[in-house]
Amino acid sequence: MEPKITLKSWNHILESKILKSWEHEDLYNFNLKENNINNIFVIDTPPPYPSGRPWHIGAAAHYAQIDMIARSARMEGNVVMFPIGIDRNGLPVEIYTERKYKVRMRQMEREKFLDLCKSALDDLESEMINIMKNLGISANFKEYYRTDSVEFRSLTQKTFIDLWNKGLVYISNRPNNYCTDCGTTIADAEIIYEDLPTNLVYMYFGIENSNTDKLIIASTRPELLFACQAVIVNPKDDRYYPFHGKKVILPLFNRKVPILVHHSVKPEFGTGMVMVCSYGDQNDVQVFRDLNLKEIVALDQNGYTTDEAKPYQNLMINNAREKIVKDLREGGFVEREEKVVHRTPLCERSKTPVQIIPLHDYYLKQLEYVPVLKAISKNICFYPEIHKQILNNWLDAISIDWPISRRRFYGTEIPVWFCNKCQTPTLPDSGQYYQPWKERPPFDRCSKCGSTEFTGEEKTFDTWMDSSITPLFISKFSRDAKFYEHTYPCTIRPQAKDIIRTWLYYTLLRCYQLTDTLAWNNAWVMGYGVDEKGKKMSKSKGNVIDPFPVIQQFGADTFRFWSASETNLGQDFRCSEQSISNSQKFLSKLWNLGRFLSSFPIPKEIFADIDVKNILPTDKWILSELFRLVKNCSKGYNIFNFFIPSNHIRDFTWNLFASHYVEMVKSRVYDDSDPTAQNSALYALHKCFSTILLLLAPICPFITEELWKTLYSSRSIHLQKRPLTNDFFKDFEKFTEKIVEFNSFVWNKKKESINPHTGKPASLKDPISLSVPLELQEFEKDLQYMHNLHNINDINDN
Ligand SMILES: [Zn+2]
Ligand SMILES: [Zn+2]
Repeated sequence: MEPKITLKSWNHILESKILKSWEHEDLYNFNLKENNINNIFVIDTPPPYPSGRPWHIGAAAHYAQIDMIARSARMEGNVVMFPIGIDRNGLPVEIYTERKYKVRMRQMEREKFLDLCKSALDDLESEMINIMKNLGISANFKEYYRTDSVEFRSLTQKTFIDLWNKGLVYISNRPNNYCTDCGTTIADAEIIYEDLPTNLVYMYFGIENSNTDKLIIASTRPELLFACQAVIVNPKDDRYYPFHGKKVILPLFNRKVPILVHHSVKPEFGTGMVMVCSYGDQNDVQVFRDLNLKEIVALDQNGYTTDEAKPYQNLMINNAREKIVKDLREGGFVEREEKVVHRTPLCERSKTPVQIIPLHDYYLKQLEYVPVLKAISKNICFYPEIHKQILNNWLDAISIDWPISRRRFYGTEIPVWFCNKCQTPTLPDSGQYYQPWKERPPFDRCSKCGSTEFTGEEKTFDTWMDSSITPLFISKFSRDAKFYEHTYPCTIRPQAKDIIRTWLYYTLLRCYQLTDTLAWNNAWVMGYGVDEKGKKMSKSKGNVIDPFPVIQQFGADTFRFWSASETNLGQDFRCSEQSISNSQKFLSKLWNLGRFLSSFPIPKEIFADIDVKNILPTDKWILSELFRLVKNCSKGYNIFNFFIPSNHIRDFTWNLFASHYVEMVKSRVYDDSDPTAQNSALYALHKCFSTILLLLAPICPFITEELWKTLYSSRSIHLQKRPLTNDFFKDFEKFTEKIVEFNSFVWNKKKESINPHTGKPASLKDPISLSVPLELQEFEKDLQYMHNLHNINDINDN
């Protein structure tokens, strides 16, 4: 019999042909119909962020796995809504644009800069979409959305206007985290901490009305001396009792500041006396507030010292530090300097030390929501469960409201106009997209003073204000009530581990503020892709792997199988071409098996109920293992952990089915003389193989589709249901170990022996005199054929 499958090995060139057939059939279309509204499965897909080339291989793996969620949910019988969007707002885009076109954002017309950003984004976006399509992602590409579209931005503005009207937004001038490189306010969630070396400078301070006494105060920020408004000691530190209420004289600046007490001082740090400046760190902010000190603005928004620093004004903070420390030394004000490691807050994006300066910003109330978010987030199922802790820790750490305004260009504009006369902010009606920096307001008069002159807000939103409403955008919140009713809350939020305290948290907050409910009931959290040594990939290290050539070389299915089988869900995974190419071997094995099986007729019964009485023991045994495999795979699929099914499928297919079972029944499938025995084997072979394909389909959608369509049905495998398990042959599971042991024993025995006729090492086909052990009697006939066994007694008889 000639195999129906002629191609000798799996060639991933076929993937593009299969992709076209899916597109042609519109296979993954989502249609809301009356008869399917009860099993809608909505994925709140993360809109990938195009911030430069190449796209990260870890991100490609991330989307491949999100696709596995979609595909396995479809095979569970759900109607899956799998939207895809591109996140196009924000700072990295601006930085990429500045670099690509060699321009500076603030040195060109805003409108022109925005145009450059758009065209830079278009190129990156089409590359990403191309990669995702080539990976076999079954999302709705026909209607992909962009977060910088008029539709999206007007929804972001609408949600802001709604929250403003609810009284949840306020404008305040207060000390805020500021990145001088990015030129903008940043939220706590965007700060990382690194232990960096610095000098702790011990300085002499004079004491008011005393010519000789000096106090020594240590500081890691001597450059902020001019913004010092007090020195503080711990109220219980008896060394300083005599100085309470006195004043010290600042070195270099000769200004007097009071000595006050505050519980935050650690007596063991430095000399136990601390200078408080506006602002060295968040503790300074707290002390200024607690002791009602008058703030001195030390830095402007470009990171330069203000006139308050005279004669050190108009210097970058680092240069100011150099000069001030030099003058302190030369003036004899330094007692000593100590090298220390300081836990320094850095801007997550530019890695610049964060400054704290007073800024006029918009704040969204979040502190008062922490208790309710803690309560309702208990109802979110996390996959894996352990990553819920990241959210819980963050909820415990939130200490200020969320500053949502940014001094950037490429973002959603804050829809506010200020009255030129009385400064009252006025907001337009929601529903449209507004650009106040270049548009006249859609109203005539200030409601407070009647003036007709306004100035539009120039700031934009923190991009998380946009991306935190993806569940609302995809479910057509405020745009299509019926669609919204059936698609919100979403079913699952898949996302990366490193953005739990930003994307996940902000979505939780924003959606709750707008809808009084959870945005989704499940959160799926994947680890990072790291390099083969376990190091984080970054452009500066030069260890970023471009996914596109890898996919071209190995094909999407190999890449996907690697991604699923590499590590358990939630753990970081190592990316190397070597491990990806290893997955190729499994696909070759699968193809070879399919090709072998394609030589034989397919019993119709494989898709019907099993007629148990006509099945032979060997076949019952492999079916028992098959049903165990189905059970294990379901366990994995039910918790969206594709590591489990991928490894179980590979193990079963390779180590039991191909190595043992197929060899045991090879003689029977060719033997027409006993139709019952032959049919039993054909049944089990095809039952196993078709089930393997169905189980593997969400992970390797291409090869399974090709084999399925060639062997079993013209209807796509991706329209089938996941197979069910049963316990019909459970008793046979106990033989597995014995069968494997016996076969291996015979193979080893043959390897060690010499064929008496040829004088060469025996081949596996050579006869051997051995009896089948008693406990495997049921399988005797198949084992005898397989190994060419002769009973010792038979040989003696001859
Ligand atoms: Zn920065
Ligand atoms: Zn006014």
